[in-house]
Amino acid sequence: MKQEQIDALRHQPIPNQGLLIEGQWGPAVSGQTLPVLSPIDGRQLCTLAAAGQADVEAAVQAARRSFDAGVWSRMAPAERKKVLYRIADRIEAHHAELAVLGVRDNGTEIAMAWKAEPGSAAGTFRYYAECVDKINGEIAPTPEGTLGLIHKEPVGVVAAIVPWNFPLMIGAWKIAPALAAGNSVVLKPSEDASLSLLRLAQLCLDAGLPPGVLNVVTGTGAEAGEALARHMDVDILTFTGSGPVGRLLLKASAESNLKRVYLELGGKSPNIVFGDAPDLAQAAKVSAMGIFRNSGQVCVAGSRLLVQRTVHDEFVERLQKVADGLRVGDPLDVTTDIGAVSSARQLSRNQGMLAHALAQGARLRTGGQVIEPVPGGQYMQPAVLDAVQPDMDIARQEVFGPVLAVMPFDDEAQAVRLANGTEYGLASGVWTGSLSRAHRMVRAIKAGLVHVNTYGGPDITVPLGGVRQSGNGHDKSMHALDKYLDLKTAWIQL
Ligand code: NAD
Repeated sequence: MKQEQIDALRHQPIPNQGLLIEGQWGPAVSGQTLPVLSPIDGRQLCTLAAAGQADVEAAVQAARRSFDAGVWSRMAPAERKKVLYRIADRIEAHHAELAVLGVRDNGTEIAMAWKAEPGSAAGTFRYYAECVDKINGEIAPTPEGTLGLIHKEPVGVVAAIVPWNFPLMIGAWKIAPALAAGNSVVLKPSEDASLSLLRLAQLCLDAGLPPGVLNVVTGTGAEAGEALARHMDVDILTFTGSGPVGRLLLKASAESNLKRVYLELGGKSPNIVFGDAPDLAQAAKVSAMGIFRNSGQVCVAGSRLLVQRTVHDEFVERLQKVADGLRVGDPLDVTTDIGAVSSARQLSRNQGMLAHALAQGARLRTGGQVIEPVPGGQYMQPAVLDAVQPDMDIARQEVFGPVLAVMPFDDEAQAVRLANGTEYGLASGVWTGSLSRAHRMVRAIKAGLVHVNTYGGPDITVPLGGVRQSGNGHDKSMHALDKYLDLKTAWIQL
C-alpha cells in the first residue's frame, strides 16, 4: 500500500449508480435516487438508485429464474469453482481501486480497509471456491434392503442485507458461501456504503457469473430492505446489522413465507485483563485498537474493558496513553490510525451516548471531542470512560463508536458475572498468563468468540456469530455453508 497509489485514486469521479438486475444496470422504476456523501469531507460523491417494491420484485424474479434455469445451481461444481476463483482474482487485481472507493464511502482508515476489505473479500471467495466440490451428501446406516441417501441441495433465492461497516468483507462472507452452495442472490447493501459492493457485482459479472445469479438493489432499509424481507419468493434472509432491524426481519418472515432468517447483530463485548496478563504494555496497545479501530464501528469491538483491581490504575493509565497517541485524521492518509465516523447521524448518536454516560455518573478520562482534521468531515477522538457501574446504559448498550467503558473487578467469578451481564454475546477477550484460567474463561463466557491474549484477527477458517441477542447463525468457515443448503432424504427400498 503506497500513498501515491491511493492519491492517484482518491479524486476519481464516481458515476451515479444503478441497480443490477439480471446482468443489466439501470435506474429504479420510480427514478428516485439517494445522495452518497463522503464522511471524509461531507462532499457528495454520486447518487444511488433508490429501489422500491417494483425493483425488488424484478430482482427476486431474476434470481428465481436463474436458479430454476440451472445456469448456476446445476452448473458442474468444478466449473462453478473456477468462476469463484476468477472473482477472487479480479478483486485482487482491483485491490487499490476497491479499497479507496470503500474508504471514500464510509471513512474507515485505509491501513485497516486495505486488509479487511478487498484483502479479506478475495480470501473469502477463494476459501469458498475451494469448498464447492467438497459438499458431499451422505449414506445413512440403514437396515439391509433399504438405502437412505442424504442429499445437500442449494435452497434457492438468498437475500443478503448488509451494514455500512466493512461492506466488502461482510458482503463476501454472505455472497461467497451462498454462491458456492449453488444459490442465486439478491444483495441489499447499506445506503451508507454501497459503492464497493456495486463494483464487486460488476467484477462478478466480468468473471463469468451468469446474469441473474447476483442481483443488487440499493436503497433504504425501510423500502428495499423491507420489500425483500417480506417477499414471498425469498427462501433465506441473511442479515448483518442492528438488533432492532433484526427483530423487524423476524417479524417480516413470520408475516410472509417463514423464510429462514440468519441474524448477525451487535454486541457490548467484554475485554478482561487479569493481573497475571503476560505483557500489560502489549495488552494495552491491542485492547485500545480492539475498541478504537474504524472509530469503534466494529461489531466485535471490545467496548467494555474489565480490569482486575490489582493492575487497574496502571493498566488504564497505559491504555489512556495509547488512546491519546492515536492520530485521528484523513482516512486516505496511510499514516492515519483512525479515520472518520461513517455518518453525521452516527457521530451525533456517539456524542449523545457519551453525554448520557457522563450524566449517569461515568467519568471521562480522555477524548470524546468532535474534531475536524479535514474540513466538512465527521471525526471523533477516542474516549475512555471510567467510574462506570454495571447498571449504567454505557455498560449495557452498544454505542458502535469510539467509546470505551472501563470497570474494575476483584476475582474471576466477578469477572465472569460482569462479562455475562448484558443481553449480548458476540465477542470477548481474556488476558492472562494462566492456561487453566484461560480455558475456564473460554467455557464460562457466553459469547460466540473468546480471544485469549489478543483482540481481533480471527481469519476465514473459524466461524463468527453471536449467542443471545447478538444473533444466530455463523458467517465464515465451512459451517457457514450449512446455512445455504437444504437436506433432502431419499429412502429407497432395494
Ligand atoms: P442497520 O441495522 O441500521 O442496517 C443494516 C442494514 O439493514 C442496512 O442495509 C439497512 O438499509 C437495512 N435495514 C434498515 N432497516 C431495515 C428494515 N426495516 N428492513 C430491512 N432492512 C433494513 O445497521 P447498521 O447501522 O448498518 O450497522 C451497524 C450495526 O450492525 C451494529 O449494531 C453492529 O454491531 C452490527 N454489525 C454486526 C456484525 C456481526 O457480524 N455480528 C458485523 C457488523 C455490524
